[in-house]
Amino acid sequence: MQVNVITLFPDMFKALSASGITARAIAQGLLSLETVNPRDFAEDRHQSVDDRPYGGGPGMVMTVPPLSKAIGAAKSSMDLVNKAAPKVIYMSPQGKPINQKRINELAQQDSLIVLCGRYEGIDERLIDAEVDEELSLGDYVISGGELAAMVLLDAMIRQLPGALGDNESANQDSFASRPLLDCPHYSRPEKVAGHQVPGVLLSGDHEAIRRWRLKQSLLRTRERRPDLFMQLQLSHEELALLDE
Ligand code: SAH
Repeated sequence: MQVNVITLFPDMFKALSASGITARAIAQGLLSLETVNPRDFAEDRHQSVDDRPYGGGPGMVMTVPPLSKAIGAAKSSMDLVNKAAPKVIYMSPQGKPINQKRINELAQQDSLIVLCGRYEGIDERLIDAEVDEELSLGDYVISGGELAAMVLLDAMIRQLPGALGDNESANQDSFASRPLLDCPHYSRPEKVAGHQVPGVLLSGDHEAIRRWRLKQSLLRTRERRPDLFMQLQLSHEELALLDE
């Protein structure tokens, strides 16, 4: 998968290539991660990429020409022979909230361009002309699109085939195939400050352990995320576990 990020702060993306699962996936070549800095396409001598908003008011707006050229440069740097044109995603608090379903779909793309805003955001005409989709981290505002893009990319990278080792399965995680939270996890020692591991996990009875974990998942989803619980289609077994 080829990803190109349009950002004024390319160094921030070293966080992905430096540590953990994302670093390993990039090193293995599962994903190529490039950046283009719109500042390199600014034309005045101050290399400005922002200007005051028409109509007045506080803050600055990222202007169209450097961004548009940066997107063009990103596209031409990608190997797109026999491939669909890359989707352009703008990270924005006004986009659709990111969820696992959309992440899994995006992880199937050959190529993506991710646009990071700064200041008050970007000129609406750039969004109209170039952006295919706007995605949000949630209903709060952060200072720039970079952290949001990194969240999106990390979540996507762990879905790429081969990104997780054998012992790190993604299909056991919360939201893997349905809106269900993961069960609680325990490891050694058996007793911590007087707190014992739930006995069933020590029983060696795989069926009992599976049922216990499923029940915990259902109970915590109902308790913590009633909005998700409402969307769940429950099997007969699951209804019976909840009755217990
Ligand atoms: N004035 C804008 C916020 C600008 S914040 C508004 O109120 O809608 C500056 C940049 O940070 C945005 O352009 C966007 O790229 C990024 N950003 C801020 N909050 C975000 C969120 N919740 N999700 C994704 N990106 C976000």
